[in-house]
Amino acid sequence: MSVVTKDLEERWNHINKRARDAAQRAGRDPAGIKIMAATKTVDRPVIDEAIALGVRYIGENRVQEARRKLTEPPLAGNVSLHLIGQLQTNKARPSVQLFDTIESVDRLPLVEVLAREAEKQNRQLPIFIQVNVSGEQQKAGCDQDDVTTLARRVRDATPLELRGLMTIAPLVEEVEHVRPVFRQLRCLRDSLAATFPSMPLLELSMGMSNDMDVAIEEGATIVRVGRALFGERATP
Ligand SMILES: *Cc1c(COP(=O)(O)O)cnc(C)c1O
Repeated sequence: MSVVTKDLEERWNHINKRARDAAQRAGRDPAGIKIMAATKTVDRPVIDEAIALGVRYIGENRVQEARRKLTEPPLAGNVSLHLIGQLQTNKARPSVQLFDTIESVDRLPLVEVLAREAEKQNRQLPIFIQVNVSGEQQKAGCDQDDVTTLARRVRDATPLELRGLMTIAPLVEEVEHVRPVFRQLRCLRDSLAATFPSMPLLELSMGMSNDMDVAIEEGATIVRVGRALFGERATP
C-alpha cells in the first residue's frame, strides 16, 4: 500500500468517525449523512484512490477542471459528481453534460438557463439552491429572502428537481460561531417544506473540514470535505 493511500485511508476513517460521533450527539442516524470529497486541485489518481476507499460523492468547483480530470476515463456509475463552485450562465451546457447535480444555483437567470439546457439534453437535473446565509459581501449564494422565489421557479421548471439547500459558512476561529448559520439554513429548509407541502424533504449541504461536526449536529445531510481528506491545498 502506498504512503498516500495509507494517509488517505486514515483520514477517510477519521472523517467517518467524526460524522458518526456528531450524528450520535444529535441523535441522528449516521446513514443519513453523505460525506462528499471536495476535490479542487486534487489530481485524478488521488481521487481514484479515494473512490477505492469508498468515497461516493465528488464535489468540484470548476467546470473546466472537472472536465479535464474526470471525463477520461469517466467516473464509475455509482459515483455522483456535484458542482459546488460558482457557475456562469455561459458554462451551463458543459456543466449539465458533466455533473449529476448542481449545488451552486443562486439566481433566476441561472435557473432559466439550466432548465433550458437540461431540456435540450433531455435529462432531469437535480439542483440545490445556494444561500448566502451570513450575508458576507464576497460570498456566492442568494439572499435568504430570495429562496422561496427561486424554489418556486425550480418547482415549475419540469427538467429541474430541487434536492436541497447549500451554504458555505464564513471562516471563523471558533467553530461554534458558525452554528447559527447552519441552524438558519435548516430553518429555511423547514419553512420551504411548509410552503410547498408536496415537495420531498430537502437535503442540507453544509459543513466543511473545520466545521462538519457542528453542521451535522444542525442537520447536514451532505458535508463537503477537502483538506481533512486530502491535506492542505498548495493554493487556497
Ligand atoms: C473547497 C470547498 C470545500 C472544502 O473545503 P475544506 O475546507 O477543504 O474542507 C467545500 N465546499 C466548497 C464549496 C469548497 O469550495
